[in-house]
Amino acid sequence: MIALVGLGQIGSRLAAHLPGKVLVVDRDVVEENDIGPVYQKNQVGLPKADAMYALLGKHKTLVGDVTDATVLGSPSLVIDCTDNFETRFVVNAFCVKRKIPYLFSAATHDQGLCARFDPGICLSCVFPPVRDAPRCTGPIEPKVLRFLVRKILGLVKQGDRKLWVSTGHSYELPAGPCRCSIAPHAKPPGIRRLCGDTIQIKGSKFDFQVRAGGLQISKDVIRYRRGKQALTLFRDGRALVHGSMDLAAAKQWYQRITT
Ligand SMILES: [Zn+2]
Repeated sequence: MIALVGLGQIGSRLAAHLPGKVLVVDRDVVEENDIGPVYQKNQVGLPKADAMYALLGKHKTLVGDVTDATVLGSPSLVIDCTDNFETRFVVNAFCVKRKIPYLFSAATHDQGLCARFDPGICLSCVFPPVRDAPRCTGPIEPKVLRFLVRKILGLVKQGDRKLWVSTGHSYELPAGPCRCSIAPHAKPPGIRRLCGDTIQIKGSKFDFQVRAGGLQISKDVIRYRRGKQALTLFRDGRALVHGSMDLAAAKQWYQRITT
């Protein structure tokens, strides 16, 4: 089974075209600005993985943050469509260790990159060990998305030891073998900013029930609203606060709902 991690602009467009069974994994929910060619208006608030299952049916889904890649099981190939190097390094380290081919993708609004890494090399062989905050791209240009979907589908069938750029350039990947020390990375902080005016909070498990003002979206998701902000609460204690960059206020809201 192929594992597709990240159902943002690239992953969501790719999902429908992948052959065979696919495990789709995403930590986010559908927001107003995700409505478009893939996600529908009536899916706002639903986890993207569940929304994708509803659209395509044939996939297995996993809602959550990939900080421990063993949740992916034993896929034949992993396609990484996440938007940050923190998660990419976790997913890639898992693939190197298990000798699973790893398909990398990344984009800014006007440029896209992708490559298939066979298990002999890792992300650190190609990129410096960046551990910075996610680079938020905004909308990716349609021609870049088309390039990435076409190229990634080609690389699913056959790798070619090249890093492809949407501008038409390509670069040879190192031949390996990998001599990087793939150390487990520092645990991400319990509260941090993600792309798209979103704050993620990781609390511990708690009594998962709807409180005043909450709306049960699915068996694992409750959503709260406050003006233009929304708080999505998952059964495992994780929360996403949308429409805010104020960490302290987000934390306060989270605590009020969960204690
Ligand atoms: Zn390496």
